[in-house]
Amino acid sequence: MKPIHRAAVIGAGVMGSGIAAHLANAGIHVVLLDMVPPGSTLGASAPNPGDAQKNDRAARNAWAQGGLDKAVKARPAAFFHPSFARLVEVGNVEDDLERVKDCDLVIEAIIEKLEPKQSLFARLEALVKPGAIVASNTSGLRIAEMMTGRGEAFRKNFLVMHFFNPVRYMKLLELVAGPDTDPAVFERVVRFGEDVLGKGIVVGKDTPNFVGNRIGVHAMLATLQGMLELGLEPEDVDAITGPAMGHPKSATFRTADLVGVDTFVHVADNCYASLTADEDREVFKAPAFARAMLEKKILGDKTKGGFYKKG
Ligand code: NAD
Repeated sequence: MKPIHRAAVIGAGVMGSGIAAHLANAGIHVVLLDMVPPGSTLGASAPNPGDAQKNDRAARNAWAQGGLDKAVKARPAAFFHPSFARLVEVGNVEDDLERVKDCDLVIEAIIEKLEPKQSLFARLEALVKPGAIVASNTSGLRIAEMMTGRGEAFRKNFLVMHFFNPVRYMKLLELVAGPDTDPAVFERVVRFGEDVLGKGIVVGKDTPNFVGNRIGVHAMLATLQGMLELGLEPEDVDAITGPAMGHPKSATFRTADLVGVDTFVHVADNCYASLTADEDREVFKAPAFARAMLEKKILGDKTKGGFYKKG
């Protein structure tokens, strides 16, 4: 089976940085790209146009570098050995997307919204080499929708590679084929996931939130609803859903802070929008307090505030 030597990861947030580190630990060269957040001004103070361009580029790379630094700082053991970090090169989608041309595998790990993912795949379609595999780390968006407008060759080489957080420690890797994914491509990724990345594979179907999050987000939202109805605090809930239940590191609100309140709400919203009234979709309605946290950018570990981290 054709080996995977070089990969690109697009989106250097909680997941993308963790995925890049995990790939590097497996000896794979990785290009990790992010983008400048909308509304940001760059290089304005540079003394001449050449410097401005250089500074702008360095500043544009800062988002990916920042993501990677955060991943390493939050989990110093993200790289088994510091030298593996050298296998990750950072860049930005504005200047460096062309670098996917050399990659055998491209993993998308950007915001959990359909339109930005669709436009990224349209750009990637024009760049990736023939036979390169493109995967999305989406938590539950439908492959058929993400592939709207893409040609057959691209759809054949596309699948979902859904890693779990934290990537290094969570054994599970959920793989989902779309209606047009080539079975040989899927098998190649199964082998890669098991033999090279050391993951345990679960094969999901292209249904809203696949398997992991259809169950996981359902459980989390039902727990939040129970907390509101019983007038409990997050700490009370975690005392029950954490170590007492045999889950030392995955109590409900600790997990919500780790996942990111924004990602959690987007995943719930996407699932709600894709289900019908007969499919128990009401339980996927995110509570108003979670939506208010999102608006105030109280997003958990990646920001200054969360359920536990008080801003
Ligand atoms: P995050 O908010 O931590 O990171 C997303 C990153 O993508 C940000 O750094 C942002 O600047 C960047 N980005 C946004 N749009 C971009 C674009 N067009 N081009 C390049 N970069 C862009 O989010 P995350 O938690 O890492 O989630 C990323 C993906 O992984 C989502 O699809 C999410 O559903 C999925 N996922 C998340 C978790 C989790 O626990 N957080 C688990 C499994 C899967």
